[in-house]
Amino acid sequence: MTKPITADLIEKFIAIVGVKNIAQKEDDIEPYVTETRGIYFGKTLLVLKPANTQEVSQILKLANDNEIGVVPLSGRTGHVGGGVPNADGTEIVISIERMNNIREVDMLGNTMSVDAGVVLQTIQEEADKNDRLFPLSLGAQGSCLIGGNISTNAGGTGVLAYGNTRELVMGLEVVLASGEIWNGLRKLKKDNTGYDLRDLFVGAEGTLGIVTGAVLKLFPKPKGREVAFCGVETPEQALKLLNTAQGIAGKSLTGFEIMPLMGLQFVLRNISESRDPLSSTYPWYVLVEISSGRSAEDANAIFLEIMEAAFEAGELSDAAIAQNEKQQLDFWALREDMSESQKPEGGSIKHDISVPVHLMPNFLKRADEVLKREIPDARICGFGHMGDGNIHYNITQPVSDDIEATKKIFMAQREHINDLIHALVVEMNGSISAEHGIGVMKRDLMARTKQPVELEMMRSIKKALDPKGIMNPGKVL
Ligand SMILES: Cc1cc2nc3c(=O)[nH]c(=O)nc-3n(C[C@H](O)[C@H](O)[C@H](O)COP(=O)(O)OP(=O)(O)OC[C@H]3O[C@@H](n4cnc5c(N)ncnc54)[C@H](O)[C@@H]3O)c2cc1C
Repeated sequence: MTKPITADLIEKFIAIVGVKNIAQKEDDIEPYVTETRGIYFGKTLLVLKPANTQEVSQILKLANDNEIGVVPLSGRTGHVGGGVPNADGTEIVISIERMNNIREVDMLGNTMSVDAGVVLQTIQEEADKNDRLFPLSLGAQGSCLIGGNISTNAGGTGVLAYGNTRELVMGLEVVLASGEIWNGLRKLKKDNTGYDLRDLFVGAEGTLGIVTGAVLKLFPKPKGREVAFCGVETPEQALKLLNTAQGIAGKSLTGFEIMPLMGLQFVLRNISESRDPLSSTYPWYVLVEISSGRSAEDANAIFLEIMEAAFEAGELSDAAIAQNEKQQLDFWALREDMSESQKPEGGSIKHDISVPVHLMPNFLKRADEVLKREIPDARICGFGHMGDGNIHYNITQPVSDDIEATKKIFMAQREHINDLIHALVVEMNGSISAEHGIGVMKRDLMARTKQPVELEMMRSIKKALDPKGIMNPGKVL
């Protein structure tokens, strides 16, 4: 149990960062105690904005000595309440937003070393300026910070070819709960010297220490790109298409996203200037992206080979091929706007789950059966990263003249529906959180669905690194 903060301690914390670099008034604090989705709200008496690793170290030492709970915060775009302090106001928030220097771009080693508070998009742009690619890409990239991405092991649309954030991080600098600084800023591809400490902090959601710096991997910038929006009859057909595309393109397959007709209809209805690239409708759609490090011609040749093989094998019903960069972006927008387009339709019950890729069609079929049994007229919109086995299985409320009244009845079934869908995921050896993490939202669910031995190992690690339990109390475990 952590302790409440005293006025004397508040002064000591402020002295570390300077009075200009805090938030203490209610209005100034307000943005720091909720995530951008506005589902979770907390309280705090103090937000600290350290300038560098040394200041973070001093803050944590003081907090640890006095058993004060701390909540690390980056861009606040998390979805699971992980960056929100408790409702008692006893924890302090440490925002790393001022730690935003790019420390080095190593062109020969293909790495970029950064402070943890750099905005993801700034990292992408810096890589681009240096004729390189940093492939982590997600809807919140203009505001999330790399420290937050690392701490949630963020996914996004680049995972298929480049992996999760975990695979993009070579080294880390972390301030431990005690205030000690671990300099693990290594650039080694091979390092078999015992336990992998770096991987412990990736995805730890601020419960083990504060990430203050990182060495990131850079990749060659693609020289050619092709994007197609394809119509398919079933998820089974999409899975076959995925296999064909992977067989021909290998690592050049950089996107494979699935969407149902319902999702496309939401986008066309609710997102201005969106347009269906195909002239007929299909039950399912797949967005395929090919990137070539060699040339535009190479990308095109790979792409045509896939299209030819897929049409011949009956894995494709229709396809529109983007003719220029603007069209490529327009096709991607149909997928990226899917979540936003659900909002005007009323309440949604959402699941961020994964199952083994080959079981994806089976999951979608069985989940739909469950849903139709429980809420026959619910509108099902399961879309996402099919190539990663990760679906955002979202369910929107039934059509109604009284949206608010129907929303109330529909959302009251959320817990029950969540239980049914997550039970199915567990039965299929899947994950109840594919991308967004645990935070507070899925803490109890994780405790119910992980093996006791796994939870025990996690608790032991937490206890070893944070014996007083000051790091992001109540999150994850
Ligand atoms: C429009 C939109 C689209 C999104 N799309 C995706 C997607 O495709 N894939 C995906 O994975 N996620 C997605 N997300 C979720 C979110 O963007 C990611 O989880 C992101 O990685 C969070 O980064 P952040 O900087 O906002 O972190 P925050 O929300 O500030 O923090 C997230 C967690 O990390 C901890 N933390 C933050 N900084 C540190 C640090 N320096 N050291 C230790 N712990 C820290 C916090 O305590 C909290 O638990 C999306 C969110 C939005 C709003």
